Amino acid sequence: MSCRLDVSVVAPGTAHRNHCPHCLASLHVDRRVPGDRDADCRGRMEALSMSTRPDGEWVIIHQCASCGELSANRIAGDDNPYALVRLALRPLVDPRHAGRALFAL
Ligand SMILES: [Zn+2]
Ligand SMILES: [Zn+2]
Repeated sequence: MSCRLDVSVVAPGTAHRNHCPHCLASLHVDRRVPGDRDADCRGRMEALSMSTRPDGEWVIIHQCASCGELSANRIAGDDNPYALVRLALRPLVDPRHAGRALFAL
């Protein structure tokens, strides 16, 4: 992937956009809470899969390519729908990981 990762902070439908609307990749800048910008890793986080929260909200599961950290992020209003569908149809690499990411929220 050759995305420049121009991630703006403001996006429709979310208070803190933290992933690319085109390829859904993110940067490891948040530690615990999305938007806290507390991590100093700055690694590239690839979209691993999609999942749903108990309230039915869709989230993207990201995994950091540098440290392996997992995080779950709300999808944003301007995310590429095709990228989201591709991601949703992708089987979970390891369901335990995704479950753990959701659990950490
Ligand atoms: Zn991108
Ligand atoms: Zn990281």
